[in-house]
Amino acid sequence: MSTIFGKIIRGEVPCKKEFESETVLAFHDIVPQAPIHILIIPKKEIPDLQSVEPGDYPLIGEMVKAAQHIAKKLGVEKAYRLVTNTGSKAGQGVFHLHFHLLAGRELSNALG
Ligand code: AMP
Repeated sequence: MSTIFGKIIRGEVPCKKEFESETVLAFHDIVPQAPIHILIIPKKEIPDLQSVEPGDYPLIGEMVKAAQHIAKKLGVEKAYRLVTNTGSKAGQGVFHLHFHLLAGRELSNALG
C-alpha cells in the first residue's frame, strides 16, 4: 500500500529535495529533529528494513552511497547519524523504508 512517501516519489506531495538518482530519493524531514535531518528512501515501495530481500541489497547500497554523498555535500561527513526504525514499537510511522540522516548538533549516544 502506498504511503505519503509514495506520493512524494510520484510528485503528488511536494518535498524539499536534497538528492535524487534513478533508484533513491532524499529530502528534508518535515519535522526536523536536528539542524540537518534528511530522509533517504528507495523509490521502490519497501515497507521496512525487515522486508528487504537479497535482490534489494544493491538498492540498500545505493541508499548508503546517497547518505555518504549527502553528508559530504552538507559538510557533516565527520559527524552524522544514520538510523532506520522498523515497526511501530520501534518508532516507525511511515511504512516505506527510510534512513534518517541526522547532523548539525551534538548527538548523544543514547539511542533508546
Ligand atoms: P519514522 O517515524 O521513522 O517512520 O519517520 C517518518 C518521518 O517522516 C518522520 O520524521 C516525519 O516527520 C517524516 N515525514 C512525514 N511526512 C513527511 C513529509 N510529507 N515530508 C517530509 N517528511 C515527512
